[in-house]
Amino acid sequence: MSEQLAKELQLEEENAAFPEVVAVAEGPFITGENIDTSSDLMLAQMLQMEFDREYDAQLRREEKKINGDSKVSISFENYRKVHPYDSDSSEDEVDWQDTRHDPYRADKPTTTPRKGFIGKGKDITTKHDEVVCGRKNTARMENFAPEFQVGDGIGMDLKLSNQVFNALKQHAYSEERRSARLHEKKEHSTAEKAVDPKTRLLMYKMVNSGMLETITGCISTGKESVVFHAYGGNATEDKVIPPECAIKVFKTTLNEFKNRDKYIKDDYRFKDRFSKLNPRKIIRMWAEKEMHNLTRMQNAGIPCPQVVILKKHVLVMSFIGQDQIPAPKLKDVTLSSEDMKKAYYQVLNMMQQLYKECNLVHADLSEYNMLWHDGKVWLIDVSQSVEPTHPHGLEFLFRDCRNVSQFFQKGGVAEALNERELFNAVSGFNITADNEVDFQAEIEALEKMNEDHVQNHGKKLSMFSSDGDPPIYDE
Ligand code: ADP
Ligand code: MG
Repeated sequence: MSEQLAKELQLEEENAAFPEVVAVAEGPFITGENIDTSSDLMLAQMLQMEFDREYDAQLRREEKKINGDSKVSISFENYRKVHPYDSDSSEDEVDWQDTRHDPYRADKPTTTPRKGFIGKGKDITTKHDEVVCGRKNTARMENFAPEFQVGDGIGMDLKLSNQVFNALKQHAYSEERRSARLHEKKEHSTAEKAVDPKTRLLMYKMVNSGMLETITGCISTGKESVVFHAYGGNATEDKVIPPECAIKVFKTTLNEFKNRDKYIKDDYRFKDRFSKLNPRKIIRMWAEKEMHNLTRMQNAGIPCPQVVILKKHVLVMSFIGQDQIPAPKLKDVTLSSEDMKKAYYQVLNMMQQLYKECNLVHADLSEYNMLWHDGKVWLIDVSQSVEPTHPHGLEFLFRDCRNVSQFFQKGGVAEALNERELFNAVSGFNITADNEVDFQAEIEALEKMNEDHVQNHGKKLSMFSSDGDPPIYDE
């Protein structure tokens, strides 16, 4: 009851303090107000961030007052608590593994020296002394988990017998294990639904720092990622934030990623790092890969989302679509035959550009990962993209070609090349096999040749030697 009342009061107060945020969008996901506050830890962290922000605002006001119109100004930058978003705070890096070495754990109680007694003559006390032992047992209760209730015995001169202490210790440990199990379950179940509390906090920080205005809601929940829509916030000195953003959160529930190992494990760009990393770091690498690949595509002028920022496993990019409505996937849109033909030639060109200029193979290209927006096709979802010299790069390319070819042939584009012709057109190879089995065998032979070259020369062929540049197909 009192909790309910407190919540209501808090809400009222917040509404009065920030009325403009409420009006931004309907049913927003994170605005700084409606975030899930059921976790005390998260609430505390959010309050701390709010406090830090207010502190900084005050600091800026003082800075302004002191400097006035003076030509020489004093900067309070070093005293600020919240720094621009991309300066990574070390607190961000506190990860699950760190909890094994808890710096806050109480020291072990002091023990009687090895000789077994302290004092001299008649003042001698041994480790078996009932009073010393009882007090020591009471002190040891501090080592129990903080949530384990031991009453206020620690503050009094309480002496616990060994028997009582041992029973308590046993109980405390089993409670601790039970609570850990429950906690784990809770974290995972929320991660299944949307995102886990740590990710929510990461997203909240983006709103809190002003980089994003509001996170309005979820666009897509896939097996490996959850995508949100957000309105962009204020530009910083070196970054312009698009008016609408997509936030791709790579899921930290690890099992989904196991079957994707092969994309990254054999990617020489990530090879050295892969073996040394824990699974959580590998998931961050997926996000990192998507960022690098998008950047390459952007530089080549391929229509794709523009990267805004990467934070751990959360990638913020420009939103393809308008007014919170994402552009439809090619599979969901009905195009006129003219547009369909136009889309086909565009996709063909993009595949060639991707291969030649970006040195990439999409590796999951299909009508599911192409959006139709502004009268053209946009490529998305490139976390699994690899370089053509990846041990399976050409097989991935062939699969992409098959998807593209089938989609446009079924869509009525008479000019659409079949998958083998498309493969040659994109890669510049001239594989003449006229059936799929032989064609695939030749592809594998090429991949093997490249691997052998790596074995013998210690490096990849920078690009496969082929008969020349891929021919440019155009309408
Ligand atoms: P997944 O690996 O889950 O397939 P995607 O990158 O394909 O991840 O994103 C899933 C869906 O989210 C896409 O099909 C698309 O509808 C939407 N989406 C992803 N990125 C954007 C973006 N930048 N703009 C608009 N919608 C996007
Ligand atoms: Mg996808």
